[in-house]
Amino acid sequence: MNTKPMTLGRDDLGHRSETVRRMNLGAILRALHLDGPRSRSDLVAATGLTRSAIRTLTGELVAGGLAVEGPATLDGTRGRPSPIVRVDPHGAVVIALEIAVDTLAAAAVGLGGAVLARVRVDLAPGRSSVDDIAETLAGLAAQVQEAMPADATLVGYGVAVVGVVRRSDGMVSMAPNLGWRDESLGARLAEVLDPSLPIAFANDADSSVLAELRRGAARGATDVICIWGSVGVGGGIIVEGKPLTGAAGYSGEVGHIPVDPDGLPCRCGSSGCWETVVGSAALLRRTGHPPEAGYDAVDAVLRDAQAGSPVALAAFAETGRWLGIGLAGLINVLDSRLVILGGRLGAAYPFVRATLEAELDRRAMRAARHLVRVVPAALGSDAPLLGAAELGLEPVLADPAAWLRASGASLHSLTA
Ligand SMILES: [Zn+2]
Repeated sequence: MNTKPMTLGRDDLGHRSETVRRMNLGAILRALHLDGPRSRSDLVAATGLTRSAIRTLTGELVAGGLAVEGPATLDGTRGRPSPIVRVDPHGAVVIALEIAVDTLAAAAVGLGGAVLARVRVDLAPGRSSVDDIAETLAGLAAQVQEAMPADATLVGYGVAVVGVVRRSDGMVSMAPNLGWRDESLGARLAEVLDPSLPIAFANDADSSVLAELRRGAARGATDVICIWGSVGVGGGIIVEGKPLTGAAGYSGEVGHIPVDPDGLPCRCGSSGCWETVVGSAALLRRTGHPPEAGYDAVDAVLRDAQAGSPVALAAFAETGRWLGIGLAGLINVLDSRLVILGGRLGAAYPFVRATLEAELDRRAMRAARHLVRVVPAALGSDAPLLGAAELGLEPVLADPAAWLRASGASLHSLTA
């Protein structure tokens, strides 16, 4: 930003109007990115800007390669035909990378959330060191980059990782499923990916929550609890449209709410945490599998439940009961309107629903209970990648003019 001392008068007004113009440009691009194609008249109505301002701003996005304008159509009955504006999915593309418990994945995701290419591979046993994973991810990133259309502009990377990760630099303080503690994933990836491009990081549950908020089951919702079940149980809490982060950014560890004073030891060092009764280990224990058996065994229990196995159905009913107990507490505190179950818990939704809802009826306070809905996540296994892509696109969406200028786009109206 401008660091010159500001003087009052025409320069100051000019500076302010430039800031406002850039904010409007970002708001229009974000609306097209999240809501899809709009007519210019729609944009006039949605933003309150004048027709000529919208024409100029969409013209800038088109000139910068971030949007395209289609032929004018008559929308509604009033006025002149209005051109349809849409994002150009190739105008800004992120390579999203996912480090999951048992797989690694990469996807090229363009503006508007278009998945242009994707690849997923199993994580080879004994190959989960940071060096091994960074090397494999670099190979996957190269693969999807090669599959990208020739006119696509790569703007950065977004990484979703199954662990506690610092967003600023990709430092992973803890990833128990990978055996990582204090690993500088960010620094390692910077060595093997294109060094000229930024890398954004998020925990996989946080990334999935972001994707569900922008493109999935929580779209448009403002007060949401997302519960993500994999080996552990993670989550995200949205209050009045904003993620609850806590003082140091560690909030959302819903899996470690104490629910059973006499419960089993938890990976976090405590005992009787929610995760010990709703996580996959509990499900496996209830169905006679070794608790550490992993995803294949969880998927086998899911198939058994679909086939009507009484043992599998009873095990999920117990998971649902404990889910309802924990959720009733959260709903009573937060007065949320929507609960989203994702990951393996999303797949288990039909089998946990009845006991979960019964516990909410029993324990959640009446007023809040009647207003809350529990639904499965909508985006399936793509959610972490789509959320990571959103993070990677954020610099372009936040200030398209600055990004276009930095990327050297020749845009006369921006360089004037
Ligand atoms: Zn715990």
